[in-house]
Amino acid sequence: MRIGVLALQGDFAAHIKMLEGLGAEGKAVRLPEHLEEIDGIIIPGGESTTIGKLMVIYNLQEVLQRKIQEGVPIWGTCAGLILLAKETDNALLGQPLLASMNIRVRRNAFGSQRESFETDLSVPALGEAPFHTFFIRGPAVESVGPGVEVLATLDDGTIVAVREGTLLGTAFHPEVSGDPRFHQYFLRIVQGVKG
Ligand code: GLN
Repeated sequence: MRIGVLALQGDFAAHIKMLEGLGAEGKAVRLPEHLEEIDGIIIPGGESTTIGKLMVIYNLQEVLQRKIQEGVPIWGTCAGLILLAKETDNALLGQPLLASMNIRVRRNAFGSQRESFETDLSVPALGEAPFHTFFIRGPAVESVGPGVEVLATLDDGTIVAVREGTLLGTAFHPEVSGDPRFHQYFLRIVQGVKG
């Protein structure tokens, strides 16, 4: 399986490393032609306004939206989740989005960089063991529309992981904990589409 990792800004390298540890190919995507013959796409964490603007400058916005329509699985983590959302709290600021997932997200929902935290999440889709993960100035999912499955919430009910068909979104960073189960989960979605 060949997974394209959007490599305009943010922590794409950690995703590529994780994918390669699982026997998949992780390919850095910076230009539209890098998306040819790709089975799935990861949009990493970073800074969503920067990634969004670079996505427009490098002519990637339309081709990514086309891939989504074609059913290519796409996983957005943190800033990537913001880019996938149909609605964000800063859409009026001219933030370029892929606007594909039926969710509303709030940026920096947990406060500033200093309020970043790590926690053990219960994610039933990954099995019983809690998933230890990191929230780094992460967004929260404020509401989900029809067809969106909630995969994980914090203890206070805040939604932090969602799936809508072939689209996956996580508000945290599963690529830094060393636990490969979220990447394996995404690869299973990709395998399911690839057949
Ligand atoms: N706060 C960032 C944003 O709004 C996201 C942070 C992250 O991806 N770790 O884009």
